[in-house]
Amino acid sequence: MHFQTEALHAGYDKDNQSTMAVPIYMSTAYEFRDVEHAANLFALKELGNIYTRLNNPTTDVFEKRFAQLEGGEAAIATSSGMSAIFYAIANAAEAGDNIVCASQLYGGSLTLFSHTLKRFGIEARYFDVQSPQDAEKLIDDKTKVIFFETLTNPSIDVANIAAITEIADRHNVLTVVDNTVATPALCRPFEHGVDVVVHSASKYTTGQGLAIGGIMVERKDLVEKIRGNARYPHFNEPDTSYHGLVYVDVPLPVYTLRARLSLLRDLGAVSSPFNSWLFIQGLETLALRMKEHSHNALMLAQFLEKHPKVAKVNYPGLPSNSNYANAQRYFENGQASGLLSFEVAGFDQAKAIVDATKIFSLVVNIGDSKSIITHPASTTHQQLSDAELAACGVPAGLIRLSAGLENVNDLIADLSQALEA
Ligand code: PLP
Repeated sequence: MHFQTEALHAGYDKDNQSTMAVPIYMSTAYEFRDVEHAANLFALKELGNIYTRLNNPTTDVFEKRFAQLEGGEAAIATSSGMSAIFYAIANAAEAGDNIVCASQLYGGSLTLFSHTLKRFGIEARYFDVQSPQDAEKLIDDKTKVIFFETLTNPSIDVANIAAITEIADRHNVLTVVDNTVATPALCRPFEHGVDVVVHSASKYTTGQGLAIGGIMVERKDLVEKIRGNARYPHFNEPDTSYHGLVYVDVPLPVYTLRARLSLLRDLGAVSSPFNSWLFIQGLETLALRMKEHSHNALMLAQFLEKHPKVAKVNYPGLPSNSNYANAQRYFENGQASGLLSFEVAGFDQAKAIVDATKIFSLVVNIGDSKSIITHPASTTHQQLSDAELAACGVPAGLIRLSAGLENVNDLIADLSQALEA
């Protein structure tokens, strides 16, 4: 079936009320038929609801639908994009291990990797996403994950996905990709060899800036890469915290199973059923919205490219952009999503322009139906050192836009008057 059809129907068998809309099941826990039923659920002899920290019928529809849209096998919803990223890494790596990451990443991912994971004994080693071959030199026998974004925020690079997964496969290392900005409506990383996809659902998935959430999806047959792979003993050896379960021996999607039974159980960053329901509403219109976001962003990029005060425009939908070829290769009809950025003379000029816009809201978010303007150097990337800023491609005069769904002529007029500020 096609994406638009699955976005409306996948993962939901209408319950006995025949409701067209997926119901919100607000419940902490679920009643067992008897003790044997309870024991079977805990022993995975039967599958079913136990407690909302582990599973929930509304969240289940969101997970199944999202997995289908990504072309994956299974998904696990989390309380935020950051927790999805943390779980995707913590599922594979522990103290003494390392991860190889693109340096062009969302600021929160950079601080998670360079600071918090470091305190947990996991080292992050960075490569330039524009030079994927450099990732290979960083891999050793303690490397557990190669992590990158399909469409990077805020530097707006497009990864050469196949070049990175080819390296990872040669070394039997898992690839984890953040597909938040591209969304599965525009890019399906599993088709290019990626193993695990993560998202902040807080962006285009909810689509109207309504809720924080995240999701992690695993590809079909991922167990084949993990079974017997010396890099991943936790999946191949008995889990003493779960009565000796060996994850690769269970006939269930292995990466999400371990994340659910171990990480959700112990860390508990679960999606609220209400938020899962909001994300289901968002998915229904995702394909339509991504088309319009991409169109508006392209129009804005073309306008900015011609403006004398603008030194550089970063938008992979522009033929002049160095990422254009990758965008054409990896994105649906070359549509490059709603995120673009441009550079003006410096910090002060950027500040003046941002303050002068009227329709664009000054907000640290992306992927809302309302257009957003951000100055990364004073907000999302403020905690990074100058060297870290340079490495992730965020100069002080960089302004990021998230093109919304307003009439694009109004957006162009607003930017035009702000640039005169
Ligand atoms: N990944 C990307 C690309 C993001 O832009 C963000 C947030 O801006 C995140 C992850 C983190 O997501 P959340 O804010 O839902 O934790």
